[in-house]
Amino acid sequence: MTAKTLFDKIWDRVCVHELHGQALLFVDRHIGHEGSGGGFAYLRRNELPLRRPDLTFTSADHWVSTKGPALEDIENPGMRRLVAQFAINAEEFGHTAFPLGDDRRGIVHVVGPEQGITQPGLLIVCGDSHTSTHGALGAFAFGIGSTELNHVVATQCLWQSKPKTMRVLVKGARPEGISAKDIILAIMAKIGANGATGHVVEYAGRTISDLTIEERMTICNMSIEAGARAGIIAPDEKTIDYLRDRPFSPKGAQWDKAVAYWRTLPTDEGASFDREVELDASTLAPMLTWGTSPENALPITAVVPDPADAADAEQRAAWEAALAYMDLTPGTPLQDIAVDRIFIGSCTNGRLSDLRAAAAILEGKTTKIPGIVVPGSTQVKLQAEAEGLDTIFKSAGLEWRESGCSMCCGFNGDIGAPKERWASTSNRNFVGRQGPEVRTHLVSPAMAAAAALKGHFTDVRAL
Ligand code: SF4
Repeated sequence: MTAKTLFDKIWDRVCVHELHGQALLFVDRHIGHEGSGGGFAYLRRNELPLRRPDLTFTSADHWVSTKGPALEDIENPGMRRLVAQFAINAEEFGHTAFPLGDDRRGIVHVVGPEQGITQPGLLIVCGDSHTSTHGALGAFAFGIGSTELNHVVATQCLWQSKPKTMRVLVKGARPEGISAKDIILAIMAKIGANGATGHVVEYAGRTISDLTIEERMTICNMSIEAGARAGIIAPDEKTIDYLRDRPFSPKGAQWDKAVAYWRTLPTDEGASFDREVELDASTLAPMLTWGTSPENALPITAVVPDPADAADAEQRAAWEAALAYMDLTPGTPLQDIAVDRIFIGSCTNGRLSDLRAAAAILEGKTTKIPGIVVPGSTQVKLQAEAEGLDTIFKSAGLEWRESGCSMCCGFNGDIGAPKERWASTSNRNFVGRQGPEVRTHLVSPAMAAAAALKGHFTDVRAL
């Protein structure tokens, strides 16, 4: 029998037809948000039903206000209409939805695993590129565009070309104070923003299996920043424990059957990948980005790079443009870069363990700069409040908000002022991502909290 990768096993199960080098895949779960409304409008225009309401799950996250929990808290009338339409779509098409007022609501990539909607071995799609997050539980999950979305809501299937496979093997004991965000930023720095283009990346090795499920989500979340089609991690006993008794997890005999299947999923011994990369985690330091691509990541102990040291003319031009936008001078120690504000949240780092990590740094202290803390879901918010984390953040001088995407994309109006420098736990530091002319440095929650205490970047290990 041919040895298969985890990805191949899922692909072979969901492939229902092949034609002209393309595969028609059955979609096990379609998850969405307010921005998925175009799919429902398509169904309405064509007088079609939603093909599988039982396999469709949506949550309002991108356009919701984080300043208050109600529809009226959304100041912009267009955004308010979009979020109102979300609830209308759910009612009309009869799928499971988490609108405003539902305490299961939150960022769709936080809610999916939290509710047990995300499970190993499933094909999951969503009209959002960071759908790769769900690969942390052993699902093949990827973002789709609007035409693909129309196809999924109408047929529950999707034509795809088969991606290549890549394995990123992370070895070595993770040193104290090194987070999953540091690991994925180090991977980004090593392979580059196009380093995994066209591939499904399986993260493997002792360092990865030692991570918690929430940490694995941070890793898979940023796969897309390296151009990957998806990121995936083999399900193990931690995955099974994580999913036990979640609201949408299988129950009774179905649970036993599901677990038996999940245990067959890890990549077979001897299976081959189109590409393999290795990273030694034992030498890592806390990371941050200095430029306008997630690949522009360096350890906190480094200095701002000099374009004269770039590998080629193309990279030199990119570095020069990034440094001009970020207003940084080559040779400046990263620890000396002053920060104006911090953002803790997003589907990369807005889960309970992320908030705990930041609160551990901030407890009993006062920040030098302001910032906002936005839980990834309302469940995360409620649990954090039950633990008193909100009190720690507020006492330290930070704002405690309602759940949502917030400053990760700024769609809801949560953006920085021009030329402000933010330490952000999100996933993209692109030009203008967090507001026109805003300068974004990607960091872990603990590094963001440490920057807030000092007013500049600092090595969180010293705290
Ligand atoms: S938090 Fe950011 S990356 Fe995640 S779903 Fe929202 S906008 Fe997309």
